[in-house]
Amino acid sequence: MKGCCALPRYAYDLHIHTCLSPCGDALMTPPNIANMAYIKSLDLIAVTDHNSARNARAVMLAARPLHLTVIPGIEVTTAEEIHVICLFPSADSAERAGAELEAHLPSVQNRPEFFGEQLIMDEREGIKGSFPWLLSNATDISIDKLPRFIESFGGFCYPAHIDRPSNSILSVLGSLPERPAFGALEVHDPDKFFKIVGNGYYRGKYAIVTSSDAHLLTDISERVNFLKLDEPSFGALRKVLLENPI
Ligand SMILES: [Zn+2]
Ligand SMILES: [Zn+2]
Repeated sequence: MKGCCALPRYAYDLHIHTCLSPCGDALMTPPNIANMAYIKSLDLIAVTDHNSARNARAVMLAARPLHLTVIPGIEVTTAEEIHVICLFPSADSAERAGAELEAHLPSVQNRPEFFGEQLIMDEREGIKGSFPWLLSNATDISIDKLPRFIESFGGFCYPAHIDRPSNSILSVLGSLPERPAFGALEVHDPDKFFKIVGNGYYRGKYAIVTSSDAHLLTDISERVNFLKLDEPSFGALRKVLLENPI
């Protein structure tokens, strides 16, 4: 285990939606998310709106006085309707990837009365605008191409909520593909999942991540999920979730 046991544990939640996601609650504003994560004593969170990173920087800025690490991310919907968590080293890289991803969305106007608002905010809840196209639609990027696409912006990715009956890699493909190879998997309810499938295939091959997929403030994780990391940073996360499965 190469001395990993000596590493400190950090409480994390790497799957949180803001009010930019059409399904995100109106109270999922940048300062509210940062403050709730702080109240819950989390060390490390990621902002992962559907197919866009336009609120990630605001959450990072809102969290700065709280000594809470915020990783900018995106929950991408692939062409096969598979949800994938993508994490980036900086707000700039996430925004560049997000801008490119938005161009891979169908030009379908959001209808807030049906799907919800898609508000872009600053770190003080100032509304900068609303995103016009429906962000919950699938992009035209396939699961084969996504990892390389994300890597071209310095990020890495892994399949989201693989144990859910929809928008998960297992529900769409039936099994995990050999290619592309992922270092981590997000399992929403690992106790239930591994009781059903057994963990021989997964443990040791993948890092297993459990995050909230919060769309409501109260759903942000308590201090219950931990990762052993050199430090609470993108680089340390990348090392554990991409290069060194636990
Ligand atoms: Zn999802
Ligand atoms: Zn989600």
